[in-house]
Amino acid sequence: AKYTKEAILQMAEEEDVEFIRLQFTDMFGMMKNMAITAGQLEKALNNQCVFDGSSFEGFVTIEEADMFLHPDLDTFAILPWRPQQGKVARLICDVYDREGNFYAKSSRTILQKVIFEAKAMGYEFEISPECEFFLFHTDEDGGATSVTHDKGGYLDLGPLDLGENARRDMVLTLEEMGIDVESSFHEVAAGQHELDFCPAAALRTADQLMTAKFAIRTIAKRHGLHATFMPKPKTGVHGSGLHLSFSLFHEGKDVFADKSDEYGLSKEAYYFMGGLMKHISGIAAITNPLVNSYKRLTPGYGAPIYVAWSAKNRSPLIRIPLTGDGIMAIELRCPDSAANPYLALAVCMAAGLDGIKQKIVPPSPVDRNISDLTEEERNAMQITLLPGSLGEAVAELKKDDFLCQVLGQEFVDGYINAKEEEWHEYLRQVSDWETEKYLYRI
Ligand code: GLU
Ligand code: MG
Ligand code: MG
Repeated sequence: AKYTKEAILQMAEEEDVEFIRLQFTDMFGMMKNMAITAGQLEKALNNQCVFDGSSFEGFVTIEEADMFLHPDLDTFAILPWRPQQGKVARLICDVYDREGNFYAKSSRTILQKVIFEAKAMGYEFEISPECEFFLFHTDEDGGATSVTHDKGGYLDLGPLDLGENARRDMVLTLEEMGIDVESSFHEVAAGQHELDFCPAAALRTADQLMTAKFAIRTIAKRHGLHATFMPKPKTGVHGSGLHLSFSLFHEGKDVFADKSDEYGLSKEAYYFMGGLMKHISGIAAITNPLVNSYKRLTPGYGAPIYVAWSAKNRSPLIRIPLTGDGIMAIELRCPDSAANPYLALAVCMAAGLDGIKQKIVPPSPVDRNISDLTEEERNAMQITLLPGSLGEAVAELKKDDFLCQVLGQEFVDGYINAKEEEWHEYLRQVSDWETEKYLYRI
């Protein structure tokens, strides 16, 4: 561990910290927090802070309402955007029940279990995420709009790029919080931006993604902008993804690398892809958790729709990116930032490890443009489609016993119920598109 209890108490004192936010993430990836004053910090560090779990969807029932927050000491960080006198710090917490058991429905715990299983196999993951988002203007009341005056495209700069000052502040803020940003740039669509993070261990990566979304939104607001991670905020332009690149190490050695292979990939790397591809339809319910997620996974906007892999082509589900440091990585391109990062990493890592255990061989790589192939050609090459809707993905998750066991049946039941409800609510809506299309003509 990086910090001891004593070190945190001392840092809080020296840095003039007045408030500490105890943060955790709910099932659906929403950050929650409870603020305590510095006088209560010692109590919090002794795992004695309680919150009412009965008020959270999918958490606990009324009878077992009190949940305990156990701060992860290494996550202590000062929020740079809060007042610098009487500072505000945060600690990311694990959720325990009153008996002191890990709470089965806490997504951070689910990820920790997979990390533990990887460790038992002698493996450690490093993950680097690429987070895309839009910056839109706010209205007179400060409300979100989907309007941008930005004219930038991929890698453009000012005056076309109107987000460069906001992006600069975001990166500096994250660096101040100990998060290493590899690069930041304007993405393809007007108003769209990307922040790429340096590889980090799995739990740290998920914590960093939660922190990054929080910081990006906050800094955007300071610039009079609204940051959204909605997967497809506008019809007819690119959506926002969260590509995840996985690397695997055994005693510091790169498990995915094998120089003798034509793509530089080891057997484990192929099996890892095999596992990901085998479970991807159910995984999608976690990595692409919204009705809107599936509007991004459509042809023509750089987002994947076919289950295939390539070492060259950028469009398939899985890509082998070139890395500057020569470490092999497997990039999964379907996830979006609406996903709960703890769950997304947990299911992807577990599916990949299952591939390694079961020696699941993936189909051959596809270096051609898949949309040019006929259905027969696709079938012959074992190329299938990703789920086309949230309803489909949830049904696939329900059927995948392996994923259900990774997430825990109790968790899965709560998650699936909520997502089915969301899907059915959507199906009942009469949309503007329908009214415009049919009202006058029919
Ligand atoms: N915005 C695209 C997506 O939805 C990805 C563009 C890229 O290759 O970075 O995944
Ligand atoms: Mg991108
Ligand atoms: Mg990418």
